[in-house]
Amino acid sequence: MRIAVIGSGIGGLSSAIRLAKKGHSVSVYERNDTYGGKLGQLKLNKYSFDTGPSLLTMPHLIDELFQMHGENPRDYFNYRKKDIHCKYFWDDKTNFTAFSDKNKYINEAVSKFYVEKDSLLKYFSRSKKKYDLINELFLFKPINKISTYLNFDTVKALLNLKLFQLFSSLDQVNNNDVGNQYMVQVLNRYATYNGSSPYLTPGIMTIIQHLENHFGTHVCDEGMRQIPASMYDLCRKIGVKFHFNKRVDSIIVKNKEATGITLENKSLKFDKVISNVDVNITYKKLLNDKTYLPNKKNMSSSALIFFWGINREFKDLDLHNILFSNDYKEEFKNIFESNSLSADPTIYINITSKDIKNVSPQGCENWFVMINAPKDIGQDWDKLKNTLRKNIIEKINRNLGINIQDHIVEERVFTPKDISINTNSYLGSLYGESSNGIFSPLKRHQNFSRSIKNLYFCGGTVHPGGGIPLCIMSSKIVSDLIEKSN
Ligand code: FAD
Repeated sequence: MRIAVIGSGIGGLSSAIRLAKKGHSVSVYERNDTYGGKLGQLKLNKYSFDTGPSLLTMPHLIDELFQMHGENPRDYFNYRKKDIHCKYFWDDKTNFTAFSDKNKYINEAVSKFYVEKDSLLKYFSRSKKKYDLINELFLFKPINKISTYLNFDTVKALLNLKLFQLFSSLDQVNNNDVGNQYMVQVLNRYATYNGSSPYLTPGIMTIIQHLENHFGTHVCDEGMRQIPASMYDLCRKIGVKFHFNKRVDSIIVKNKEATGITLENKSLKFDKVISNVDVNITYKKLLNDKTYLPNKKNMSSSALIFFWGINREFKDLDLHNILFSNDYKEEFKNIFESNSLSADPTIYINITSKDIKNVSPQGCENWFVMINAPKDIGQDWDKLKNTLRKNIIEKINRNLGINIQDHIVEERVFTPKDISINTNSYLGSLYGESSNGIFSPLKRHQNFSRSIKNLYFCGGTVHPGGGIPLCIMSSKIVSDLIEKSN
């Protein structure tokens, strides 16, 4: 079959790799001049930065894409497991190191926060059980297909419904099951991994910490950009055709069937069309569907990112660092209720020069400083970013006992509006719809169109969700659906 993939984000690239394996002729159309979508790269003189994801979990899912073509993924990209997942800091000088070694992690939690070892062990084991049940039933299969649910896995999941803690928020579960305000804040933070609020997302989301604590966090030898770069190299080797600087204007639909795409006033015929473009943009722009109403209120958070070239090193910091807000609840209220920023936000500092060579000059560091931000609804980002910059500099100074302003030698800022423009993401949301609400995971858009035959969706805005691993899972679902459609 001739298959068009619109967009070369991680979902589009992995779909192309899977479909080429099935012998199809795959053409990828990308409006930018390069592949990777949100996994972009920025260079500021001698400093380089990944502009999107910084945390790599479940890299075996990427490896599988190479292995299915008989290729050794290590010939394309390499990664190492981190001993430290993240370093956490509070204004009152409390700190916590999240070690990848479970015993070390638990010892740290017991000695710093006096949490009970048994409570943490129970919490981890319950999260694992949730993941094992959901993984089989949900993550690699289409939603809204009856066949997904007619099996023993559904019965098993239903028998364990209480285990999922659906009717409590993640914050309530963390308070009840673990306790201690610092530890709860560490565990609450996982809600942000899919752009949600720990006070609104259900307790089932303890599975996100399981993905990190069980599968580990990893660092690519040459940075995150190496992931789409390697996938692109593989695509080229297996015959996938790429068309850059080609913005698709519409998906052609005839008699309720997708028959191709249009771009530059030309119509191109295809047997199947896969959209890797944000699903809301796909409906609004590519299908010109006036009846489609995006769930604007429930979109996931966006981000304000400061890319700073720093002219010195900080020995106490690691690859991933968090400086926590003193009022976490208020911070999420601001993001999801008033679409504004907290005066004391949580600051994420990602420093790839800690683990990767040649991304900053000798003795210097490349800081990716990210603040969770509301979706873009037309706020005055220039004004907000200036106030935020002042606030975060003060907080960093308080925590590290320095004047960071004196050490910033390069700077670029991305606002939610920039993210929206650069990657064509609806309102600049990082992960499509958030998981705020009990049934939100079941409400994500499915990977196929109910009303238009031969039209499929992959990537972070559709089932099973955002983030690199889930985008890759979406490509498996799409490729299985296409196989079954014949
Ligand atoms: P996208 O990356 O959204 O790409 C879509 C592609 O479609 C783009 O290349 C775009 O140019 C192209 N396109 C759009 N419209 C058209 C058109 N009309 N014609 C042709 N092409 C078009 N995930 C993690 O796993 N870990 C993290 O630490 C993490 N942190 C993040 C931090 C930030 C700042 C951001 C932005 C995201 C982060 N994510 C993280 C989320 C992750 O990046 C996304 O879930 C994932 O990359 C989305 O991939 P996708 O397949 O949906 O495609």
